[in-house]
Amino acid sequence: MIDFELSAGTKMTKKLIHSFVESSFRSVSREFDEKEHTDPAELISSVHQLMKGGGMTGMASSAGSDETDAKKGSKPKKPKEANLQGVILAEELFWGDAGLALAMPGPGLGGAAVLSTGTAEQKERIMKRFSEDKPAYGAMAITEPGCGSDTSAITTTATLDNKTNEWILNGEKIFVSMGKRATEIYDGFVVVWATLDRKAGRAGIKPFIVEKGTPGMKVTKLEHKMGIRASDTAAMVFEDCRIPHNNILGSAEVAVDKGKTEGFKGVMKTFDATRPFVAAMAIGVARAAYDMVREILDKEGVRIRYGAPVDQLTVLERDVLEMEVSLKAARLLLWRAAGMLDKGERNNLEASMAKAKAGMVGTKVTQKAVEILGPLGYSRKILLEKFMRDAKINDIFEGTGQIQLLVIARNILGYTRKELK
Ligand SMILES: Cc1cc2nc3c(=O)[nH]c(=O)nc-3n(C[C@H](O)[C@H](O)[C@H](O)COP(=O)(O)OP(=O)(O)OC[C@H]3O[C@@H](n4cnc5c(N)ncnc54)[C@H](O)[C@@H]3O)c2cc1C
Repeated sequence: MIDFELSAGTKMTKKLIHSFVESSFRSVSREFDEKEHTDPAELISSVHQLMKGGGMTGMASSAGSDETDAKKGSKPKKPKEANLQGVILAEELFWGDAGLALAMPGPGLGGAAVLSTGTAEQKERIMKRFSEDKPAYGAMAITEPGCGSDTSAITTTATLDNKTNEWILNGEKIFVSMGKRATEIYDGFVVVWATLDRKAGRAGIKPFIVEKGTPGMKVTKLEHKMGIRASDTAAMVFEDCRIPHNNILGSAEVAVDKGKTEGFKGVMKTFDATRPFVAAMAIGVARAAYDMVREILDKEGVRIRYGAPVDQLTVLERDVLEMEVSLKAARLLLWRAAGMLDKGERNNLEASMAKAKAGMVGTKVTQKAVEILGPLGYSRKILLEKFMRDAKINDIFEGTGQIQLLVIARNILGYTRKELK
């Protein structure tokens, strides 16, 4: 039986995060949206203190957590429901403000890639910075100017210098979330996906850790964006960027002759862990818009009649009920995907279902919220228009909505990647 009753600890942390973001994020939401690329340094420091004290679980601090304790190589120390708790708390953070939530310190996508693909030694070495005194960030770079949805088309190369036993990375990456904070402003690293052998296709693609300050790595641009403007999205180049041999995550073997695609499977394993978190982000923003509309309608004396016969519902009531139902349906899919991850079950289908649904719900619910309030919703007097701008990205990054539908169709109908593309 699936039991989604939250533990007392999770309920308490959820409440704590809610009141923290309600006061600390919302009061500066507009400011940091308008001053795109300004670092909310004070807020980052407060969140870091809270995280260190165990009062807040950052997004993906548990994403991709597996059954291995890096220190002992044995039983996990994390709570049994680390991912389920993680997505519940992420929803709360993103309810506060999506751009600011993304800009807060934590392992992020880079951390999820390390946890999904690294050895026990690598997990210990790379992740220990997140329990230290300074705020730290992890970023992940897959996308390139000529490759996004089709991640197998990666052209960034990694070649081994046999004399020095170092990897040399060359290539360009774009749209790297937290790329600047992770590699230039704060302590951190970026996981760069590069090919060891282009002829080997997917089998040749491997993840590499590049630490902050590594010569040859440079942020060349920060994107100006529609939403999540408090977060940085960087373009980066790697020019003869040398990294130690043990910074390749997992094995360096290119097992193309055996028909294996281990390297590429690491990308998919990372996505299986992070897509539920993106779904949580979408639901958080959508709930923020829903709550705001309900509050304003309430103040205006508009009541929603639960249980009224369908033929007697007003259009407004029907819209509000549909928003509520969509949110709940998306959340249930999300909790299922995260719960499976906690049990070590393969959740590729469920993670894509959760992300596809939540991405759509995020877009539709925030748009409907703006529509219901009309000119007020569209104005900058309140944050609804911002929620609408912030929501859309969840239907784009970590695989677009269409790509999720492809994954779902392949899984259900039993088609291979080649048969259905
Ligand atoms: C703000 C932001 C942050 C990002 N952060 C990161 C990050 O941290 N790391 C990272 O590596 N990347 C990141 N990305 C990149 C993001 O993951 C890609 O933009 C996304 O995967 C889409 O790839 P693309 O841009 O190449 O679009 P394309 O693949 O060119 O897609 C364009 C359109 O075609 C559709 N499409 C493509 N293929 C198919 C198909 N087979 N069937 C049906 N429709 C299809 C897509 O759904 C989309 O609507 C970020 C992007 C943004 C905007």
